[in-house]
Amino acid sequence: MQKAFTLFSLKKRILAIVLVISFIFCSLFVRLFVIQIINGEALQLRATDQWTRDLAIIAPRGKIIDRTGDTLAVSYTTYNVYARAREVKMPSETALVLASCLNLDYSFVYEKITNKKMSESLLKMQVDGEIAEKIYGEKLSGIYLAENSNRYYKYGNLLTQILGFTSVDNVGQTGAEAYFDAYLKGKDGYSFVQSDLQGREIGGSLRYYYPATTGNDITLTIDSKVQIIVEQVLEQIMIEQKAKSVTGIVMDANTSGILALSTKPSFDLNDVPRDDLETLFAQSKVKPVTDIYEPGSTFKILTLSAALEAGVTSLDDHFYCPGYRMVDGIKIKCWRTIGHGSQTLKEAFANSCNCCFMDLALRLGVDRFYEYMQKFGLGQKTGVDIAGEGSGMMMAKKLVKNVDLARMGFGHAIALTPIQLLTAVSSIIDGGTRNSPHILGGITNATGQEIKGEEYKSKNGIVSENTSTIMNELLRFAENKKGDYTFVEGYNVGGKTGVFLFCCGVKLFY
Ligand SMILES: [Zn+2]
Repeated sequence: MQKAFTLFSLKKRILAIVLVISFIFCSLFVRLFVIQIINGEALQLRATDQWTRDLAIIAPRGKIIDRTGDTLAVSYTTYNVYARAREVKMPSETALVLASCLNLDYSFVYEKITNKKMSESLLKMQVDGEIAEKIYGEKLSGIYLAENSNRYYKYGNLLTQILGFTSVDNVGQTGAEAYFDAYLKGKDGYSFVQSDLQGREIGGSLRYYYPATTGNDITLTIDSKVQIIVEQVLEQIMIEQKAKSVTGIVMDANTSGILALSTKPSFDLNDVPRDDLETLFAQSKVKPVTDIYEPGSTFKILTLSAALEAGVTSLDDHFYCPGYRMVDGIKIKCWRTIGHGSQTLKEAFANSCNCCFMDLALRLGVDRFYEYMQKFGLGQKTGVDIAGEGSGMMMAKKLVKNVDLARMGFGHAIALTPIQLLTAVSSIIDGGTRNSPHILGGITNATGQEIKGEEYKSKNGIVSENTSTIMNELLRFAENKKGDYTFVEGYNVGGKTGVFLFCCGVKLFY
């Protein structure tokens, strides 16, 4: 009886122990499942982060090139020199070599490379490739080089606003550098090694290396030779006119591709005035795109085109200018207060007679005038691929009185951006097709494969072929009358004087 009881009791005990052990195993299994399967990836990442040391390999930025293949902005590599004190084996010798190569004080270098409180100390930034190669050749233990990509602008103080510049971290800040940053920046690579708790590399451990991908190259519609001429002329005007600021744009009337654009004064892109934010901001602005102005006489090209298109005038028309017009009892003067007398339309345009343009605007009436201005793209952004574009300002149509309309006829009481005016003029002289102005000529990757070509939107029928032909003729006549640039080989030269802008409508012979 005693024996049977003991046997029974033992069985029970064994069963209990088995149950307890099973329970423990099941718990461990569940825990293992959670760690390995459910949290596995995240934990692996954390472990990798703790046990590896990585160095970013900065992607070289793509080049910026002009339409003729001239490289305007290019990246070059410099190196940062680091020391890992715990790995430095011969500090005195190492400090001697580095102080000489990097042109640094021996004691400064020695202190850095023996400071074991820091896992990594920076010795010098932006070291040239030649020096970096020399240091690398010395095979100094505990000394590392990290690549940096820097930007160099071939012409320095040229195309300041169009090209823009990058931050010290290689990110586009202004101009094309910022606008096309996504294409130019490439993809950074990195390398990492497994290390111990003190940050020392584990002997025989795995090293990973993911190379950086070079950014794409951007080709602009800009022609650097034209740009150089424009900037020289602008600088000359700055001096002659004692102007605070001068702006110029050259546009291909056939495509509205921008050949040159500049605002003076400007700064050297290789020496960006980062400490003087006011200058930096003012001189980085692409004023012909961001700022509006009252166009004055150059606007008369638009008024006349609309009047010809609407049939309210023709080449046979005559205008009389006594020096002013009375509109709704208000006297509005012609710029020539003694008057232009009797003139044909052609003469009135060449004379830039305000009376003629007041008449034309009033004949059109508010509705038609606004309809044509909308067709020319006024009051809307042109869609140019430059940041911060303004859309100009026109009075609300319902508020426009005759006196306002008369003034608008000769370019007053209206505000637009220079790029809006030039785009509209281009559409008039180019047979009535309005193209969206642009600076992007194409994008190619590092292997030379084209990713994107020159793209722009076109709108036909802004004016008829007939109006375009007459306007070309009148612009040529107005320019020849002035007599300064009567003939330029290979080009039709037309022009219209303005208070703030001399607009030279150039159409290539094809
Ligand atoms: Zn007049």
